[in-house]
Amino acid sequence: MSTVVYGPEYWLVTLVYWMLAACFVAPPSEFVHGGLTVQNLLSSYLGSEEMNFIYYHIRRTTATAIIHSFIPLGYYFIIGFAIQDLHLYHLHRASFYWKIYLAASLIIPFCVCLLAYFWSLKKWNNHPIAKNLGYLGNGDSWRAVASSIDVEFRRINKFTSGVPGRRLYVTDSWIIQTAAYHLNVAHQRDMHLTLSGAEEHEISPESFQGVQFLNITVDSINEHVQSFVIRLNSLEYGDLKEKLQAPVRNAREIVIHQSLGDRFLLAFKEQIDKNARFNVAQDVELDSCIGCMLVPANTKLQKLCDQPEEGECKQCYCRPLWCIDCMGKWFASRQDQQKPELWLSGKAPCPMCRATFCVLDVSRIG
Ligand SMILES: [Zn+2]
Ligand SMILES: [Zn+2]
Ligand SMILES: [Zn+2]
Repeated sequence: MSTVVYGPEYWLVTLVYWMLAACFVAPPSEFVHGGLTVQNLLSSYLGSEEMNFIYYHIRRTTATAIIHSFIPLGYYFIIGFAIQDLHLYHLHRASFYWKIYLAASLIIPFCVCLLAYFWSLKKWNNHPIAKNLGYLGNGDSWRAVASSIDVEFRRINKFTSGVPGRRLYVTDSWIIQTAAYHLNVAHQRDMHLTLSGAEEHEISPESFQGVQFLNITVDSINEHVQSFVIRLNSLEYGDLKEKLQAPVRNAREIVIHQSLGDRFLLAFKEQIDKNARFNVAQDVELDSCIGCMLVPANTKLQKLCDQPEEGECKQCYCRPLWCIDCMGKWFASRQDQQKPELWLSGKAPCPMCRATFCVLDVSRIG
């Protein structure tokens, strides 16, 4: 074997091949946006994630494992084509080591295909995702659990974060994280969340601002469910918490960089708590907030500030219709977005009657 065969050309092809392979296996966001991922390549075989979430991911993880298992074999053919002197296409002239490499790169996909076949038996009963769901059903079959997840996944109120290959979904009762070969699923009822770490990056390529990523460990009291870590931008933390039933423990007292909206909402609520409350009779049933429909309306606009009656703030005669979060978001949306420092001293019209109010004119009910 001459050393010329393993010259710069050989190393260049090798480097490029394995770099591309790595990008394909763990795609950076450029690849995801460019569409070169298993999901995109096989979208017609995989079906709709929206309609059949669990079956989609069973097929996706299986297809991903099979496709990735062919990467070593692909290298054999590419390098054999690029460096003809290796004689890889004429097996009797190829070196012993390349023969071993070829054997190994044939055995790997063979085993993976065999495993995939085993998974697919009895309509995927043997797939690891199916096995995992079986532990979550409290006696129900994994298919019952899968359809309950599918139903919740179709609702539009789920929380979504992350890139397609590694995405976090929080539905009304489930927390789900996708990964290349598996799916982490935990029921909201039996999990503990702990803020386990934070990383700060000066500049994110997406936003050109400093960003903070939070790592949250999800532990389940169900012994069959493995713990997993979810990672998200701190600006999404407020939205995530809204979807969670359990609190996130922050034992290490990590300082979370919240979004401007979340920080304003805190200050807004702090001020409202200092304002006089608005009393309604005990027997009055309050409607759901017409902004979010999730909680009863719990605010009333009443002119309390000491501006003169003919000044800008006016009395509002509307019934309580909004919750404090929606009122705060509405108030923030009516302010100059470039000058957040002035938001608390700003004014907004009542969403219904357009009477102007300031933060001093918002009362909690009761
Ligand atoms: Zn609301
Ligand atoms: Zn009004
Ligand atoms: Zn006022």
